[in-house]
Amino acid sequence: MTSLNLILITGRTINQGRTLEIDKLGKDYLDSVAIAELDVDDYNSLSLEDGDNVKLETPYGCIVLRPVKSRRRHAGVVFVPMGPWASQIVNPDTYGSGMPTLKGVPVKVSKTKDKVLSVDELFKENFGVHLHAEKMDINYEGGNDGVKVIEDVCCSFCGCLCDDLVVEVSGNKILKVNNACVLGITKILHYNKKRVLYPYVRINGRLEKCDLQTAISKAVEILSNAKFPLLFGWSNTTVEAIRVGAELAEYLGGVFDNTSVVCHGPTILGVQEAGFVSATLGQVRNYADLIIYWGCNPLNAHPRHVNRYIELAKGVYIKSRKERKVVVIDVRETDSTKIADMFIRIKPGMDYEFISALRALIKGYDVEADEVAGVDIATIEKLVEMMISARFGVIFYGLGLTMSMGKGRNIEEIIRLAQDLNEWTKFVAIPMRGHYNVVGANQVSAWTTGFAFAVDFRRGYPRHNPGITSATDLLERGDVDAALVVASDPVAHLPKKAVEHLLNIPIITLDPKWSLTASVSTVLIPTAIAGVEVEGTAYRMDKVPLRLKKLVDPPEGILSDEEVLKILLDELKKKMG
Ligand code: SF4
Repeated sequence: MTSLNLILITGRTINQGRTLEIDKLGKDYLDSVAIAELDVDDYNSLSLEDGDNVKLETPYGCIVLRPVKSRRRHAGVVFVPMGPWASQIVNPDTYGSGMPTLKGVPVKVSKTKDKVLSVDELFKENFGVHLHAEKMDINYEGGNDGVKVIEDVCCSFCGCLCDDLVVEVSGNKILKVNNACVLGITKILHYNKKRVLYPYVRINGRLEKCDLQTAISKAVEILSNAKFPLLFGWSNTTVEAIRVGAELAEYLGGVFDNTSVVCHGPTILGVQEAGFVSATLGQVRNYADLIIYWGCNPLNAHPRHVNRYIELAKGVYIKSRKERKVVVIDVRETDSTKIADMFIRIKPGMDYEFISALRALIKGYDVEADEVAGVDIATIEKLVEMMISARFGVIFYGLGLTMSMGKGRNIEEIIRLAQDLNEWTKFVAIPMRGHYNVVGANQVSAWTTGFAFAVDFRRGYPRHNPGITSATDLLERGDVDAALVVASDPVAHLPKKAVEHLLNIPIITLDPKWSLTASVSTVLIPTAIAGVEVEGTAYRMDKVPLRLKKLVDPPEGILSDEEVLKILLDELKKKMG
């Protein structure tokens, strides 16, 4: 067979997370992200020979990737790590939610002799742009004062915000990171790699080094001339910086939006409809005897979640793994299914139907079908029995629910399922948030504007209408005329259609490292790394605020996001009055 019709699922992997922290424009990232993981039967049926690649075609685009035989079974599903290659072929339509459809896209997979394009070649071919980056490593010597041991350090990689790291530092050199997973270790140990060390302004198509004042002046010129700027990102910086960002958006009459539009924006929509049934991770650790991971792969995206709250957790009431049951529900086998006492594989795009069947059975109704979402009714009844007989159950749900077709409706139904279960026992539903402070971005946006994302200040007061005022939709319709990007990389992660417009408007980027967005910016201002070079506040996935510590000094002359944003706001006020 030379081609197969499969379902495309995109998502995080350990290698994708590790290599993006080192160099997003490098070969390791390409090797980790420009791949298509195929079930062994699908792989074999393509009769691939040495050197063959696979072409993935959807109605939205076409890419060539290196085929990889999956270690797990998921016949009918092809998995591609999230990144610039996957972004070329996902469904950009948000269906009024703000969230494009990044999972569950029908795709034709065929073998090809064509080569896998590097990220630079990909952008040249698809967008006609060259990615410019002057990546610099800073080589610090150890200090003269011996080794300083810093305890209770908070990891600023994922939404677990593990706060038990111990970091050994000598001068400005980080020697060792204890207790973190490979993602946290990579982020902290490689903080000095591939840095942006100077401000840049684009002149005659090239990014040219300049001083901070020149970069700020150019940024002020762009923002003051913009009729409708987008202020986007915010999930990898501190609450303090995000607060200044909200003020800036209001002052400019722009749109204030965060990376929830490509992760848990639908969770916010579900919460707006159904409320919130939640607990802290501490409560989970102490009380939960049934843990359900639904549409997420914690061993790849949140590697210590499983050990801290399940496998090695010695809770006050639930003292060990033996007293906990773990269920994994997903459309494919993943690394995380191996920790499950029960794995339920459901058909892609049928989470809503499956949740509805659970709710019907819990409420005492019959389900007049032999199977729902590809799962036989006996298995569904067994899961219901586990749920209602638990003393404290928790559903940790991920992007499998928010990025597939049901979007916010899936989340509304998951929350209502937890509410129904509270008629029987104690049950909560907690989103597995990705970036370490994406919850902080939602919290600050909600305190300051009343809405957690997609806030439009164009009329002088905040309006929120996902599908209209969300960054992805605004970009795809070509509505905004300038962008300020802080602590995120939309050029790598938004769908192709949104990136096409982004590349046509001036972009001001604040980033400590060379990202794809940084390399196509009009103005690029380097900033210090929060949680490594500056302190601040961040919110864990369960909405608990934690303090990020400063471990080392930032490079000379490099300010925090908060400081740069304050200068920008002051200069804009001076110019615009
Ligand atoms: Fe850091 Fe997340 Fe790993 Fe914890 S699980 S150490 S927060 S990357």
